[in-house]
Amino acid sequence: MKIQLLPSSFDSAGCATAEQRLTCFLIDDRVTVDAGSIAIALTDAQRNSVRDIIVTHPHMDHIASLPIFVDDLFAELREPVRIYATQEVVELLERDVFNDNVYPRFSEFENSYGRVMKYVPFRIREEFRVAHLRVIAVPVNHIVPTVGLLVSDGNSTVAFSSDTAETEEFWHVVNRAPRLNALLIETSFPNSMHKLAEASKHLTPAMLAKELGKLSHNSIDILAVHLKPAYRDTLISELAGLKIPSLKVMEPGRTYEW
Ligand SMILES: [Zn+2]
Ligand SMILES: [Zn+2]
Repeated sequence: MKIQLLPSSFDSAGCATAEQRLTCFLIDDRVTVDAGSIAIALTDAQRNSVRDIIVTHPHMDHIASLPIFVDDLFAELREPVRIYATQEVVELLERDVFNDNVYPRFSEFENSYGRVMKYVPFRIREEFRVAHLRVIAVPVNHIVPTVGLLVSDGNSTVAFSSDTAETEEFWHVVNRAPRLNALLIETSFPNSMHKLAEASKHLTPAMLAKELGKLSHNSIDILAVHLKPAYRDTLISELAGLKIPSLKVMEPGRTYEW
């Protein structure tokens, strides 16, 4: 399985910068987990191959350019862009984003080939298919309804925490997986901002260390994501201070393979 954390900003030469402002993971050039930077960071080939998008929760950093992605492709889509989310999140997207005020209600629009966007609601704790992948969604502990994901292509399995503070069920599901290759887990705020992390339901490096104590898989890659750009340097040194050899900060724009 190939996974890229799409960049959300670029330097003056057009190269991806290390800061992560938006969340969008591209899997095998076909599927994304969240869609923050989907309209700004895909190549043309990827734009033409991605039709399946899993939305973990409706926060702006995870959906910011989703409407623009559908808009860009509107005339040429020969199949709908499929948005996989819990029914609860589908309703929030319809109420707050695709509401004819912020953006058109694309789920009701057609081009000359048919519908341009379609919701595919999934149930938590029940496996569902997204393109060539099998996915299980588990509620995590964030301030809006949010799911973590266990994603498998039949050979490799990768877990995505999405945005979360301390959580339990996610770890039970991850630990039950017969094999796990990688865990992509959030670490948003430095340790000095523990109170804000608790209030906004995110992790600090110290909280992350406690969460990793609940993980029973050994020798997997652990990649920290969702580092708030303003605290990135502090977060990197606090994460290094945990002295967990398999823990790295995920680099936007780099393709990882498991
Ligand atoms: Zn969030
Ligand atoms: Zn977020």
